[in-house]
Amino acid sequence: MASSFQELFGHPPEVVAHAPGRVNLIGEHTDYNGGFVLPMAIPQQTHVELRRRTDRRVRAFSANKSQPGEILEFELGQESVGKSWLDYVQGVTQVLQRQGHTLSGFELRVQSEVPLGSGLSSSASLDVAILRALRQAFSLPVDDVQLALLGQKVEVDFVGAPVGVMDPMAASIASEGVALFLDTREMRFERVPLPAGLDPIVINSGVAHNHAAGDYRVRRAECERAAELLGVPQLRDLSEADLPRAEKLPEPLGRRVRHIVTENARVLATVEALRSADLPKLGTLFYASHDSQRLDYEVSVPEIDLLVGLAREDADVYGARLTGGGFGGSVVMMARAGTGAAVAARIARRYAERSGQQPAILVPQSIEH
Ligand code: ADP
Ligand code: MG
Repeated sequence: MASSFQELFGHPPEVVAHAPGRVNLIGEHTDYNGGFVLPMAIPQQTHVELRRRTDRRVRAFSANKSQPGEILEFELGQESVGKSWLDYVQGVTQVLQRQGHTLSGFELRVQSEVPLGSGLSSSASLDVAILRALRQAFSLPVDDVQLALLGQKVEVDFVGAPVGVMDPMAASIASEGVALFLDTREMRFERVPLPAGLDPIVINSGVAHNHAAGDYRVRRAECERAAELLGVPQLRDLSEADLPRAEKLPEPLGRRVRHIVTENARVLATVEALRSADLPKLGTLFYASHDSQRLDYEVSVPEIDLLVGLAREDADVYGARLTGGGFGGSVVMMARAGTGAAVAARIARRYAERSGQQPAILVPQSIEH
């Protein structure tokens, strides 16, 4: 393959590391409100190859972002924002050094199967894969949860994306076929296997959320303002009994609060539905979550609504919803066991016909890959 590590740097890598993308089953925009989330790893991963250097130079290549042979560089200790995807690498080295870890320069090659900017957390899988490679190369004393928190710091403190803890936690400790029920405030988590009788489906709408950073910030600010007006530290501290009070807030704050409060309750109900294998209940929760994102939180787009609408018409689908931060991205569906591949194919085909977009089926993974 062109631009292999050997071709780029003239020798083989010393370490390789990987981290998966994730699909959030339910619990959207709840993590920065101290609430509950339920992500699961997807088969697509980010792969990192790395070799230490004897100086302080970092040289990096991404098969997803770079031209053939195009290597970006910086000097350890001189990280500066604004170098596009290299910010994620610079963020990792700056955060590690500020926490007292000693590094030398290194060569890095990145390649990912996680679609970028599609609500499946390519960025956290990149942060976590680089951190894992560095942990191994430099024998850093960092456990998996600490590693996830470092990944979050990379995006919040360096890249300038005020993300919650769900994505790096999913990339660091979630696995396929097992949901990670995470209480983001207490940082307590439990693993909840998907019951038999269920085929998860993930379809990328082909609409990237490229310009969503601003909208995400607005939602965060609205939540902080609403919490302040309601006199609680975080929206996590509210229950459904508080909703009449919240609904008196100036528009659109009441609706934002209603999404967060009902979404937290839906995560808890979804965990119960998974444990008791109540698949119709699970489906109802998914659709309710989608409607809440669409109407109260206003993070959906027409293409995503079309995918969810096609799922609603399909007798083999229990439920479907927008997954990830929104404003484009992907949809997660739960279908009857054994039907996943066929359902995904027919929904993707109808969606492509009606929207003119090019959807991609991530789960179930096609056998050619
Ligand atoms: P998401 O995490 O939902 O995919 P983000 O906007 O948070 O979307 O992150 C996407 C950004 O992360 C890309 O624009 C790029 O800067 C960086 N990124 C992710 N994966 C890679 C990769 N394989 N190579 C280079 N940059 C990547
Ligand atoms: Mg991201």
